[in-house]
Amino acid sequence: MKRLFVLLAMAAFVITFSAQERGEYPAEYARAPRFNALLVYTPAAEEAHVQFDLQAVEFFRKLTYGEGYTLTVTTDFGQYCDRLQEFDVLLWLNYSPGREEERKAFEQYMENGGGWVGFHAAAYNDRNTHWPWYNSFLGCGAFLANQWPPQCALLTCDTNDHPVTRNLPTEFVAAPSEYYMWDPNPRDNADVEVLVSVSPKNYPFGIKDIVKFGDFPVVWTNTRYRMIYLNMGHGDESFISPAENLLFTNALRWIALG
Ligand code: ZN
Repeated sequence: MKRLFVLLAMAAFVITFSAQERGEYPAEYARAPRFNALLVYTPAAEEAHVQFDLQAVEFFRKLTYGEGYTLTVTTDFGQYCDRLQEFDVLLWLNYSPGREEERKAFEQYMENGGGWVGFHAAAYNDRNTHWPWYNSFLGCGAFLANQWPPQCALLTCDTNDHPVTRNLPTEFVAAPSEYYMWDPNPRDNADVEVLVSVSPKNYPFGIKDIVKFGDFPVVWTNTRYRMIYLNMGHGDESFISPAENLLFTNALRWIALG
């Protein structure tokens, strides 16, 4: 009787499995290299931003192993402005261009379906930036406030029903970073979908410069473009949170592969 039960259970498993998989092999191996990414950073940034950038270069380079994808790293974005269409995704680490021709090339690239993953100071802007298109692209206003010093923070996924956050815990502790607030808040923009925020449980947030209250989105996408912005990106202790590392990988994958 016991043996019959085992046989029936095995038969049920095989039927279920076959129905789900329809006899297909579960993996797909023959598509490498899948996409081209151009990573941009600048050694002229503040030291803690360059520290993040160098760790990020290693993090994203490791994802290229075994022809995962093709990564070009540059500190001179201008060199690539006349051939941005060769890249499926631009990774801007604490970088945004100041020269007019570089800004125009980026606008044209994004308006024609280009992909962008931006970190931290890539979105920093104030009244001296003079690039209104960029604010419309980012979906946020100028820099408003930050906490200091850089520290670990509890982050909250605003949704787990998105390719970038689907496999993340609803709350997780991120590696030490500095976080920015914006005015206007990207959440007030109807085109923006906020994916991750600093949890209000962190308040008062900071030791020297203390954020006491307020809405604090840190990862979002402007749905009018193939873009995602992540506010992390400061200091030499990044890439130590598995959940946050998964978020970074998800972000790149979503922009590059959909
Ligand atoms: Zn910073």
